Amino acid sequence: IVQWTPFFQTSKNKQKYPWVQLAGHQGNFKAGTEGTVLKKMTPKEEICFQKLMEDVLRPYVPEFRGVVNGDDEDESQYIQLQDLLSDFNKPCCVMDCKIGVRTYLEEELLKAKEKQKLRKDMYEKMIQIDPNAPTEEEHKAKGVTKPRYMVWRETISSTANLGFRIEGIKKDDLKSKDFKTIKSRDEVKEMFKEFCNGYPHALPKYIQRLKAIRATLEHSEFFKSHEIIGSSLLFLHDRKHASCWLIDFAKTGTLPENKKITHSKCWEVGNHEDGYLIGLNNIIEIFGAVKDE
Ligand code: ATP
Ligand code: MG
Ligand code: MG
Repeated sequence: IVQWTPFFQTSKNKQKYPWVQLAGHQGNFKAGTEGTVLKKMTPKEEICFQKLMEDVLRPYVPEFRGVVNGDDEDESQYIQLQDLLSDFNKPCCVMDCKIGVRTYLEEELLKAKEKQKLRKDMYEKMIQIDPNAPTEEEHKAKGVTKPRYMVWRETISSTANLGFRIEGIKKDDLKSKDFKTIKSRDEVKEMFKEFCNGYPHALPKYIQRLKAIRATLEHSEFFKSHEIIGSSLLFLHDRKHASCWLIDFAKTGTLPENKKITHSKCWEVGNHEDGYLIGLNNIIEIFGAVKDE
C-alpha cells in the first residue's frame, strides 16, 4: 500500500480530515497549526525553501513559514509548510509524480562505486522484479554491485525513459497498484486517465498550470542554479478545483561552481543533468493526449 494517514489535520474552517502522505517515511510529517504541515527539517531543504520564497517559482511551491521545534519529547526540528490539502474540498484526489531521469545524486553513485562488493540482497530484489535483468555473471555470483543496482532501479519505472514516475495516487475508486513498475507511456497515460476520471475540469486545469510552471522555470534563478533530484509535482483536485505544485527539495542543491545544466539533456555520469524538463514535457504531452482522446 502506497498511501497512509499519519494523522488527522484540521482545515481553516475547522473541519477534520485524514492527511494523505503518498511518499516518504511515516515519521517525517506532523500536523501544524493554521493550514500547515510540518516536515522533518534538513538544512538542504530549508535553504531551498528560503530561496524559493524569493524566486519567481514562489506561487508554485507550498508557502514556507520557517523552522519550528518539535514538542517536549520530540527533539527534531521541522520546516513549516502550507498544507496543500487544506484548500481542497473532500473528497480530494492526490497524485505524486517524482521528476527527473534519476533519483539519486551523483555523489551517492560515486560513493556506491567505491565499494564494488557484490550484494546478494540487491540481486534478490532485482530478480524478484525481473528474473532476466541480471547478466550471466551476476546470476552465477548471485550478486550485483550497488551502483549497478542503482542505475538498473531507475529503468523499472518510467524514470529513466520518461524523466518522471508516478510515486503514488490517492483516489477512492482507484484499485491499489504497484506504481514502482509503471514504465511505458501508455501505462502512465492510463493512470493519468483514471486519476482524472469523473473530474472533467481537472485535465485542462492541470495542463494550463503545468505550462505556466514550464514558462516560469525559464526565468527562475533557482532553476538555473540547482540540480533538482527526487523532487515531485503534487497534483490535487476536488469537484471544483485542480492544481499542482513543486514539492520535496530534500535532495536539491546548488550546482558545482562553473557548472551549468540544461535540465533537458541526457544524463551522463559527471554532467549533473537532472532531466527535469524531460519529465515535465512528457507529463504535459501525456495529459494532452488524455484530453484529446
Ligand atoms: P521521499 O523523499 O520518499 O519522496 P519525503 O520524506 O522527502 O519523501 P515528500 O516527498 O516531501 O517527503 O512528501 C511526501 C508526501 O507527503 C507527498 O507525496 C505528499 O503526499 C505529502 N506532502 C508533502 N508536502 C505536502 C504539502 N506541503 N501539502 C500537502 N501534502 C504534502
Ligand atoms: Mg518526495
Ligand atoms: Mg524526499
